Amino acid sequence: MIPLAVPNIGDAEGANLAECVASSMVSSIGPFVNLFEEAVGEEAGSALPAVATSAGTTGLHVAFVAVGVRPGDLVLTPSFTFIATANAISHAGAVPWLIDVDPDTWTIDPAKLSATLEAECERDANGTLRRRDCGRRVAAISPVYTMGHPPDMPAISALAADYDIAVVSDAAAAIGARIGGAPIAAHGATLSVFSFNGNKIITCGGGGAVVGMDEKLLARVRHLTTTARRGPGYDHDEIGFNYRMTNLQAAVGCAQMSRLDAFLAAKREIAARYANTFTSIRGLKPFPSAAWAIDTKWLSGIFAPDLPEGALAKAVAQLREAGIDVRPFWRPIHLQKPYQMVPKENLSATEEIWRKIFPLPCSTNLQPVDQDRVISEVLRVFHNS
Ligand SMILES: *Cc1c(COP(=O)(O)O)cnc(C)c1O
Repeated sequence: MIPLAVPNIGDAEGANLAECVASSMVSSIGPFVNLFEEAVGEEAGSALPAVATSAGTTGLHVAFVAVGVRPGDLVLTPSFTFIATANAISHAGAVPWLIDVDPDTWTIDPAKLSATLEAECERDANGTLRRRDCGRRVAAISPVYTMGHPPDMPAISALAADYDIAVVSDAAAAIGARIGGAPIAAHGATLSVFSFNGNKIITCGGGGAVVGMDEKLLARVRHLTTTARRGPGYDHDEIGFNYRMTNLQAAVGCAQMSRLDAFLAAKREIAARYANTFTSIRGLKPFPSAAWAIDTKWLSGIFAPDLPEGALAKAVAQLREAGIDVRPFWRPIHLQKPYQMVPKENLSATEEIWRKIFPLPCSTNLQPVDQDRVISEVLRVFHNS
């Protein structure tokens, strides 16, 4: 089976890991953690180092807590996301409020977001923004860089400023993304979070990072990830988390960061090959790529908005039989068992597209001969259907 997206690990990662072993610096203090935080902060366009975390999910959790999301609050987020976005909101004690995506970018729809805030929220006597029907405080917006494609951050951050609420961007697969040339930390979010899970653009084995432009806030994120410890003794000034990245993870991450440009180039080359070839197949469309954005092409594959579901399912089964690891993508949050009761708006675009998206193998080390095989199998299966 040609796998969907697997890590690209080489000698540089091995050499850094050997250095950790030789020095016994394997835990959450070590030179690679600092180097990695600097490299990620710089790539994100911040003068401040990132705060490296044990996972993207834990990075999101601590980011929500740091921007002031409290138990009982609502956080506006797209239903079309990986479940970790909603889970991190829940871990903070808050409730996701699910909004539809824009069919052109598969990211949260700013017009629908604006209409929802306008129609369903009001300020109480203290000036706190609340959802009218349940009285819950609306604390933040959490847009998602779907498959590494930027959401319309200028519109979202303008809305957040109007309503005076925080923005925590889930940029899990978006390291390297740009809007109008600007890197992620400059997109207007209060904080943005990357994931370095094994299937992302770069990996630390597992891991995450929080980036931002606000020095005090990032210092608080760092403090919260390290058990909120003050000074060398066992003094902790609030209930913190043990969410730090280890030196072992960061050792892999540093090697991966030095290869980021090559990985992004490989992703983009595969995406372009698939998009160019599959436009010849009636009913298939390329994954979104807005003119105002540079996305990371984390995943690329088949989008068949006009194909009947039966025909699509048959084609996908045939591709799997042919050894191509193609699978359905994120089942939206409102269709997940733990989230059936959370507030949601009209999700017609989400409902429409999610069943029609099938990522194809696109690892950064996917060899041209294997790319050719994926392409010829897709052409064979869809021309027959
Ligand atoms: C991968 C991913 C996460 C979670 O990151 P982990 O490092 O696996 O915890 C969160 N959100 C999105 C959109 C993702 O793709």
